[in-house]
Amino acid sequence: MTASRPGAGPAGAEPAGAGPPGAEPPGAAPPHPAAGHPGMPTYLGMPSFPAAAKTAVADSQLRANLAHATHTIRAKRAAAVAELSDWEQLRAAAKAIKDHTLAHLDTYLLRLEANVTGAGGHVHWAADADEANAIVAGLVRAAGADGIVKVKSMATQETGLNEALAAGGIGALETDLAELIVQLGHDRPSHILVPAIHKNRAEIREIFRREMPGAPAQLTDDPAALAAAARAHLRQAFLSAQVGVSGANFAIAETGSLVVVESEGNGRMCVTLPRTLISVVGIEKVLPSWRDLEVFLALLPRSSTAERMNPYTSTWTGITPGDGPEDFHLVLLDNGRTAALADRTGRQALRCIRCSACLNVCPVYERTGGHAYGSPYPGPIGAIISPQLRGLGSPADSSLPYASTLCGACYDVCPVAINIPEALVHLRAKVVEAKRDKPFSPERAVFGLSGRVLRSPRLLAAAQRAAARSGRLVARSGRIRRLPPPLSGWTETRDVPAPPAESFRAWWARTRGTRS
Ligand code: SF4
Repeated sequence: MTASRPGAGPAGAEPAGAGPPGAEPPGAAPPHPAAGHPGMPTYLGMPSFPAAAKTAVADSQLRANLAHATHTIRAKRAAAVAELSDWEQLRAAAKAIKDHTLAHLDTYLLRLEANVTGAGGHVHWAADADEANAIVAGLVRAAGADGIVKVKSMATQETGLNEALAAGGIGALETDLAELIVQLGHDRPSHILVPAIHKNRAEIREIFRREMPGAPAQLTDDPAALAAAARAHLRQAFLSAQVGVSGANFAIAETGSLVVVESEGNGRMCVTLPRTLISVVGIEKVLPSWRDLEVFLALLPRSSTAERMNPYTSTWTGITPGDGPEDFHLVLLDNGRTAALADRTGRQALRCIRCSACLNVCPVYERTGGHAYGSPYPGPIGAIISPQLRGLGSPADSSLPYASTLCGACYDVCPVAINIPEALVHLRAKVVEAKRDKPFSPERAVFGLSGRVLRSPRLLAAAQRAAARSGRLVARSGRIRRLPPPLSGWTETRDVPAPPAESFRAWWARTRGTRS
């Protein structure tokens, strides 16, 4: 065991995209396919959400792709959920199980560790992303490999594993179709479940033609043709891989078993074919027992892919001689989760099962897409989980709690009943509190001045007279269409009604003969 063990209170693999694996005759072993893939860009130094969103909302192709995809998934999910008369009871049960587990996280994590170890696996504790990446790199080198095949994993996106391995000369090949599209396009995922949701079929065909070794010259944008090209590209990698890396959707403390839920079957190839399997799993993914899993396997497929039952659910417990990997390592990742657990309101974000239902109903996500969130976790859940895992120190993280209309659609669809609007308001309060420590804040100065004026009838009357006079100079037909900075932020998207020539108080004093 390495690193620190729990005192309290992680992310995993999710299903995505489409594209079943198929047959590919093994030929002479080529270089490891991962060797040619550079890591994905990291999220360091991202601008604030409004700055990043400005570019996104100006991209009409992106908005069309997003609107089509989110509306389709949203409608299918609603129909799948409506089939179950006990959906709300399942939702309440999931919330209760997660809350109980989070309240006793240390107990369940130690039980998980004991049972993984008892089944022949090894457990490593990683306090942060760097530690997790170093553990994985060390294990890959110890296995004598220079590349890995990966199951789709939010936890390893969060830690920037691909970039860290690339820096050490280790290639990482994404095997989920949508993740592969993103990787080949030198892009970032923009959706938890469908990472390439911002790309349409024609764009994907161009990426494959340009970046995929061996892609047919006459490749069309037919989904079956695209899936077949990806299948051929991946097959040799599966057969030659020495090390597979996964996340996990759930970790069962009762037996030390891991569960990966996916749609394509590529994940199953990664967790069964290589000799060494490494699973990087957030500490909040633990569940006490198999009985608890039953509830989540009912909720997750309908919430994510609108399926009644998940097509590929892989489970494994340690190692089994002659069957699957000979060496299994579980890396339990904290990376800010313990801090989130200490926050009474914010901790509910740790219930998330990464179904992405909240993204598909969010009016903000639908217009901006996922890149503007500056994190592997976009949409409403990203707006509350990223600032808790990374802190509120950066422009991106301090702006994320404001990336919402607070309409509550995310709360309504969340299968684990995370009250995202409540957490957003809570985090906004923290952002404001953090500004109190700064010697100067424009927001504080404006509100301080407003407070002084509103407390004084004399100053208020003077301000109203000044506003009426200056309004007459710039207003046209009773509207002000352009104001100088910093007020130009308002008039960029809406007009301001011109201040009336006479305030109510002045009118009252004039017509009733009393002092204003
Ligand atoms: S917050 Fe809820 S709806 Fe959103 S991804 Fe997590 S579990 Fe799904």
